[in-house]
Amino acid sequence: MTHRIKISVKCPHCKKSLMDKNVIIDDLPSIKLEAKLGEKVGAIYLSQEYGSYHKKFEGVDDIIGAVVVFSCPHCHEPFPITQICECKAPMIGIQLEVGGMIKVCSRNGCKRHALEFEDINDAFMLLMRQDKTGLG
Ligand SMILES: [Zn+2]
Ligand SMILES: [Zn+2]
Repeated sequence: MTHRIKISVKCPHCKKSLMDKNVIIDDLPSIKLEAKLGEKVGAIYLSQEYGSYHKKFEGVDDIIGAVVVFSCPHCHEPFPITQICECKAPMIGIQLEVGGMIKVCSRNGCKRHALEFEDINDAFMLLMRQDKTGLG
């Protein structure tokens, strides 16, 4: 059984959705993050499918190993740093629509990320929503 977990996220500061219907990754609306990479500021679009590493770069170069400063495309506030990754780069936390957060390493090319729920009901809610929206 392949169970694709899709995650919808919002900004922890302004609470606006980060989902972008104009850029499709893995046949789904992507997660848009404002990104500063090297000298450039643009956007990085992530797959909303948990475990997928597909992404698109807009206005920034795909520099492997560079640490990206991610911020909200609406209010431009940087996302909070929740911990330091094994690769020594900061991991940022982005709020899940259902509660809890996803932590993503800010080093371009590092595949570490994790889902974290404040309480088990949030995890349950996420899985329930997959069943409802999974076929749509
Ligand atoms: Zn925001
Ligand atoms: Zn890392």
